[in-house]
Amino acid sequence: MSDHKSLAAGMGTTVVWAGEEEQRVHRATQVPVVVSVAYTYDDMDEWYDVAIGKKTGHIYGRNTNPTVQAFEDKVRALEGAEAATSFATGMAAISNTLYTFLRPGDRIVSIKDTYGGTNKIFLEFLPAMNIEVTLCPTGDHEAIEAEIKKGCKVLYLETPTNPTIKITDIERMAGAGKAVGALVVVDNTFATPINQNPLQLGADLVLHSATKFLGGHADALGGVVCGSRELVEQVYHYREINGASLDPWAAYLLLRGMKTLKLRVERQQQSALEIAKYLQTKDAVEAVYYPGLENHVNHDVAKKQMRGFGGMLSFALKGGMDAVGILLPKLKYAHRAANLGAVETTYGPARTTSHVECTAEERKAMGIPDGLVRISVGIEDVEDLINDLEQAFAQLS
Ligand SMILES: *Cc1c(COP(=O)(O)O)cnc(C)c1O
Repeated sequence: MSDHKSLAAGMGTTVVWAGEEEQRVHRATQVPVVVSVAYTYDDMDEWYDVAIGKKTGHIYGRNTNPTVQAFEDKVRALEGAEAATSFATGMAAISNTLYTFLRPGDRIVSIKDTYGGTNKIFLEFLPAMNIEVTLCPTGDHEAIEAEIKKGCKVLYLETPTNPTIKITDIERMAGAGKAVGALVVVDNTFATPINQNPLQLGADLVLHSATKFLGGHADALGGVVCGSRELVEQVYHYREINGASLDPWAAYLLLRGMKTLKLRVERQQQSALEIAKYLQTKDAVEAVYYPGLENHVNHDVAKKQMRGFGGMLSFALKGGMDAVGILLPKLKYAHRAANLGAVETTYGPARTTSHVECTAEERKAMGIPDGLVRISVGIEDVEDLINDLEQAFAQLS
């Protein structure tokens, strides 16, 4: 497991304190929600200096905002990065980052199991801009390395992935990417900075859908990118002009949610392992996918690069979608929703959530069983979650 000694304090302390001091006013203990769109200056020279970036300060809400900055600084500290910039959504973070660095004629290498929206960018929008996209089988390190060796501008990874929670070796892939001069970008949404810091494993940029675990309460959308000042400034410039800025109210909710990030993730992954083990004992279950299980295909890689295995798991029912249609409505402590990373346990079939765009044949070709259900484990008492599953399974037979 990688250490995080380079960070000034432990993760549990950092989530609570980092990023806030500079933005606090009136002796308030909490960061204010600054809703002002613009900032007023009496001194024309000072205004100019802030506008050209010679002096720190704020000019206009599409560019920067104090509440938003506190959020960015907190994530930056957690990822051990030099700089961070934020976005209205996770998809804005991903699209803005890709469009900042890719130009017609460039090539990008990634994996097949990226988040659905990311996959759409790869299959629909980048090819239309004459950017060559190569998507490798997720978790097949030799295949990914072979494609990287042919040369690419960007290597884009996501680990763990939807919906079968596959793991990619970041250090190994980043090394291969660096060897051909590629920019290495990692979507760290599922792992969270509590479990994994891609920059310390050799990535150039790490990004998150803050909507998920960072916020943790399914009540605010947001995205964030962290990395070196030089790279983040380029992404920031693209975003300030193209306009997908994070709203200060959302920034505040994310900031507040993040204070319990470590507590939540610790509880969620402890429960996820217990639920994964429980599901393995059920006759109606064909397969369980959780990187914390020793029989998981990439368990060793997960153990090497993650401090914990996360709160996401999935399982396939032998009875396919018919069985899913019976089981899921019976659950009491469950949202049946497209979201993940919240304090409430949330269930979603791959067919309806992560892979709604695919046909049954396409899902089969991708190794996604028909009756696959993803669980985002919440912070409830695990006995209640398992009892709930038990009563639902009893009604299956
Ligand atoms: C949800 C998600 C995204 C997109 O984030 P939004 O905030 O919904 O735009 C990107 N990557 C992963 C892994 C996600 O789970």
